[in-house]
This record gives sequence, C-alpha cells and structure tokens, in this order.
Amino acid sequence: MIDIILGRLLRLIIRVSLLIQGKNRLVVLTYHRVKQEDDPLQPDDMNVGQFERHIKALSAFYRVLKPEEAVTRLRKNTLPAGAVCITFDDGYANNYDIALPVLLKYRAPAIFFIAGSFINGGCMWNDIVIESIRRTKNTVLDLSVIGFDSFAIKTIEEKASAIEAILNQLKYRPMQQRLKNVKQLANIAGVTTPTDLMMSDEQIRNLHEHGMEIGGHTMNHPILTQISTEQARDEISTNKKQLESLVGEQITSFAYPNGKPDQDYKQEHIELLKECGYQSAFTTAWGSAKQNGDPYQIPRISSWDGSGLKLALRVLKTFFETPGRTL
Ligand SMILES: [Zn+2]
Repeated sequence: MIDIILGRLLRLIIRVSLLIQGKNRLVVLTYHRVKQEDDPLQPDDMNVGQFERHIKALSAFYRVLKPEEAVTRLRKNTLPAGAVCITFDDGYANNYDIALPVLLKYRAPAIFFIAGSFINGGCMWNDIVIESIRRTKNTVLDLSVIGFDSFAIKTIEEKASAIEAILNQLKYRPMQQRLKNVKQLANIAGVTTPTDLMMSDEQIRNLHEHGMEIGGHTMNHPILTQISTEQARDEISTNKKQLESLVGEQITSFAYPNGKPDQDYKQEHIELLKECGYQSAFTTAWGSAKQNGDPYQIPRISSWDGSGLKLALRVLKTFFETPGRTL
C-alpha cells in the first residue's frame, strides 16, 4: 500500500519536474551482465529480480525510446519529457537468456553494443580473470611471473578482493601484454577458459529480430587511446562490417570501450567513427544528454539501486545533471 502511494507521489513529482526542465534531455542507462542470482564475486552485476524492478520502474515513470529514435529526436529537439534509453555493453549471453525476456515483457527497447571478437565462444580478458579465480581449486595464486604478488583466494571475500586488485592493475596494460598475462593467470589457476559467456551469431540475430538494436563496440575491446590510429580504425570498421553482415542492416551507434572522455578516447576517435559511417556514440561520462550536445559523446549512467523507486529518483536527478563527472 505504502509502495502504491509512494509510486503515485513520485510519478507526480517526476511529471512536474520534467515539465519544468526535463524536455529535450535524454538519460541513458548502461547495463552489462544480468544473472539469475546475486554473484558475490561480481557484486555490481544485476540479478534478474533487480533488473526487472529497474525495467518496470523505467517503463512506469519514463518514456523508454529506441536509441536510434532518441538520438534523432534529440537532434531535432522533439524528445518527449522523460526520455530514457537502455543500453548493454559487451555482448554477454545472459543479455539474451535473462535480460531479453524482461525487456519483452515490458515492451522496453534496448541497444546491445557488441565486441566482435568474443562472439561465438570467446571470453573477454576481465572474465578470464574472474572465471579463473572463481573456478580454481588453488587456495593461493602466485602471480609473480606476471609482476603481481601472491593472492590468498580461499574465501569468497579473498577471491573478490583479488579479482578487484588484479583487474585494476591489468586494465591499463597494453592489450597484447594484458591478453598474454590473463592466459598465464588461467594456466597458473589450472582453469580452462569458458566458452559460453558471450552471445552467438544466432542470439544476436534473434535479439535484432525481437526489435532490439545492435551497436558497435570494437573487435577486441581495446582502450582506443592505447592503440595506434590505424589499429583503432581497424577495430572500429571491422566490427561495424561484421555486425552489419550479421543483422543485414546498417549499424549506426557505437559505445567506446571503457568510455571516459579524454582518457579512453579522444577527438581523433570521434573522427574515425564519422569516417566509418557511425552517427552516434555513447560514453561513460555521467549525466543527461541535451539538445545540441555532441551526438558522438552521449553520456550514460549506471545504477545498482535495489528498488525501482530509488532508480526512478536517480534518473530524475540525472535529467538535471550535465556531464562533468565520470564513472
Ligand atoms: Zn565494454
């Protein structure tokens, strides 16, 4: 009962607030993995109940638009009040298995940015670290060979803190070295890399056939500022062509890997996107997009709120924030 009253009150507050300042602004949400249960090794991952509360709240309080339509209307200054978009990064299989049925239930459109090299059985470097530590029978991981300390990994808490420390240190190593290092780590852990974490060609095609949009995210998920311009062009254009032949349609939206402005991409990468035929791109700068903002630097927010009402309030607050703070 209290929830219903709070919901109605919130809906009223949101309507009034958005009428005052929420027009021609767009709030974009980022999701990655959605799992059946809480994952103690990846506490930022959504469980399906939490995800459903999010989608239900977004559908109830806001206007969930298709990203391509939202970007077009942002440019034309015709966005409805309370316009939001839902995005997923990387291409995890659980986006198809677990998130898609929820999106369809609430008729909420979304875009899925796919890193091309991992389709059909691949595994991203961060997941090799996470799954090696999750699945190993070792209680200590001696990583001196890749320049790290030894990590005690007997308990869940120890495993979680080892994962965090290793990911943070590996994140900004050059791509080839990072890939070599995570393979060494998997060997030391005695674990075979999983082949079922990312979507298959067929799942991506099915997503698209269900009315979902597909967007580019490079082939190997490099931080663009850490590779040469030539490599960046290849990463961006090969991924675009691959996805276009997969879904039989032009791919027009892109999400920068990691996505922090000036740190993970620069103006030259925006020029590469234009050259390759992209029409919009999404970052991880925090805030709402406003009319006349750069369509190649659309900010996004992430949310780990457990309740739909909390998420609705966070989205409302974001309508009044412009980028400046990054994740
Ligand atoms: Zn990503």
